[in-house]
Amino acid sequence: MNQKSSIFAVFLAILIIQNNGLNAQKQIEEVGIDRSAPNLIVITTDGLRWQEVFNGMDFALANSKKFNHGDSAYIYKKYGSISVKERQAKLLPFITQTMGKNGLLFGNRFNDNKVDVANPHWFSYPGYNEIFTGYPDSAINSNNYPPNPHENVLAFLQKQKAYQNKVIAFGAWDAYNRILNEAASGFPVINGFENVSSILKDPQTKILEQLLKDSYKPFKEAECLDVFTHHQAKYYLETKRPKVMYISYGETDEWAHEGNYSAYLDAAHQVDAWVNELWQWVQSTPGYKDNTYLLITTDHGRGFGEGWTDHGADVKGASSIWFGLMGPEKNSNLTKIAVALKRTMGEQTANQQLYQKQLAATMAKLLGLEFTPAHPVGEAIY
Ligand SMILES: [Zn+2]
Repeated sequence: MNQKSSIFAVFLAILIIQNNGLNAQKQIEEVGIDRSAPNLIVITTDGLRWQEVFNGMDFALANSKKFNHGDSAYIYKKYGSISVKERQAKLLPFITQTMGKNGLLFGNRFNDNKVDVANPHWFSYPGYNEIFTGYPDSAINSNNYPPNPHENVLAFLQKQKAYQNKVIAFGAWDAYNRILNEAASGFPVINGFENVSSILKDPQTKILEQLLKDSYKPFKEAECLDVFTHHQAKYYLETKRPKVMYISYGETDEWAHEGNYSAYLDAAHQVDAWVNELWQWVQSTPGYKDNTYLLITTDHGRGFGEGWTDHGADVKGASSIWFGLMGPEKNSNLTKIAVALKRTMGEQTANQQLYQKQLAATMAKLLGLEFTPAHPVGEAIY
């Protein structure tokens, strides 16, 4: 062996050793992922229709002068396309493309894949109650209903050793203290104009508090703009590392009630961008990466055509909703769901009927737990 080839041999040996080392490291990382007590992030955006999720911008509404202050050029440019796929990708890129490919997305009624609320009321408090308690109690019939008498799945998680004092909820609307019965549930619920600075004191939360206080209040004292809820929740997630977090956005419903179609689409688009941001953070942060489930859904549907602004038991179609799930890329419970339902990942195309009341038990099951409260509860979806 001459000097040149011996140098080459040494170089080759180093390469092989390094490579083996990398492979071994990779294997340890694969095997070593701690899949015990996975994290859960639940997102709701109030009253976002399945129609926009699966069909993007609605041309009939986009063309209406009444719902666009006489000018549709802005939304046509931002969300318009003759292709359904492109409209979906322009409006809700994370939900319809990322989750719609690597997660599970249910509720496309164009494919007879149906999700409905089981409660008879088709508005907010009954919907959020159904999502979190799994019990569509018809007696819960008002948004002014007092503190919820039924145990919710977040309170159940708060009682489990692995999740104790690691559960928190943020909501733009000031009803979540009652809907999630903060006093009985034992985890913090920061809603409306309450501020995270009440539990997390530092200069950053002081700034958020001041901005919230001085902000434009189009929904008066009942609900803040989503941007404040989002940034408080995100800051809490990054600094306090909860294992279970719920974030509720409200603008999609508010702008729809106002008949403002471009603001409704913009609000939905912004929520999608925030959820993407949260998911990128999750998948790049040790402790969360490959050990976190994400559920996104809505509390109720809305009407068709001119009826899109409204919902409630007298509005046809307002019981129809949708939901999506994301999870670890490999060997996750989402794969188990797909196998159990004999499906492929992504946007679901099979004829099926699911209900909102199944989400509470599904959330627990994704974490390897069984939600068995004192009240009747919908079965997990798998
Ligand atoms: Zn609502």
